[in-house]
Amino acid sequence: MPAQPALFEVIAALDALWPRERAEQWDAVGTVCGDVTDPEARVSRVLFAVDPVQQIADEAVATGAQLLVTHHPLYLRGTTTVAADTFKGRVVHTLIRGGVALHVAHTNADTAEPGVSDALASALGLRVLRPLVPDPADPAGRRGLGRICELDRPLALGDLLEAAAAALPVTAQGIRVAGDPTATVRTVAVCGGSGDSLFDAVRAAGVDAYLTADLRHHPASEAREHSPLALLDAAHFATEWPWCEQAAAQLDAIAEREGWDLRTRVSRTVTDPWTAHAPSLPQASPLTSPVTPGPTAPTAHDLTPGAPN
Ligand SMILES: [Zn+2]
Repeated sequence: MPAQPALFEVIAALDALWPRERAEQWDAVGTVCGDVTDPEARVSRVLFAVDPVQQIADEAVATGAQLLVTHHPLYLRGTTTVAADTFKGRVVHTLIRGGVALHVAHTNADTAEPGVSDALASALGLRVLRPLVPDPADPAGRRGLGRICELDRPLALGDLLEAAAAALPVTAQGIRVAGDPTATVRTVAVCGGSGDSLFDAVRAAGVDAYLTADLRHHPASEAREHSPLALLDAAHFATEWPWCEQAAAQLDAIAEREGWDLRTRVSRTVTDPWTAHAPSLPQASPLTSPVTPGPTAPTAHDLTPGAPN
């Protein structure tokens, strides 16, 4: 007869999947709230989500979860208050009052094997070859940040863009691309979350394309000037959400092995902060309108080179 596991047993299983000591120094992972000292605290339902925001805390309570596992930390830096009139304090109150523990696996889940970028590659139907930035502490060379992948068959960049847009959660941003849509893509580097600090590794890998999130102007512009590397920029949330399904499946497998009466659920709430996106209107753009010479025509003085970032 399967029995409901204690909270501390489930947390120990999560720690085995994503050991806390493998998180970056600046990160804040592990159990945020929940009485892991109470052997009577049982878990029958676990909710997985990307962001520990109020909507997700409410969802955890409404769906009867006793444990919420998120990728992003609630508190990344120290705090002096969990008062309910702060938005993070309100999340803590909602969770504790609702009998829900919160556990975070962030950079320790990024570099795990399988990790966040394995889930992203899998969602995109890519075959993982190796980490983009291997973890030097892993002699097997399987853990690390990002993944270098290959396609089952070469695709035009435009087709890869459409396939990626169809495979990832719907967000206001969709996916932006930089590159010739007819260029052939055989190899892709992927990194779930903000990936523009990894351009050196991406260039060294010699891949045809790089799919990540939060690409800023200067790193993206410089990468494009440097080589014909194609860029695909998705919403941060969309690149990390596939990890929730992978993580839930990992806990399901443990529950089956241990004979636990435990059900997992993945939140389908989109917590990408952006809510709408207007495509540019070429007919209205000042850069494509016919220029009418005259007193209002722009002069060289109207442009201030090197102004804002
Ligand atoms: Zn993230």
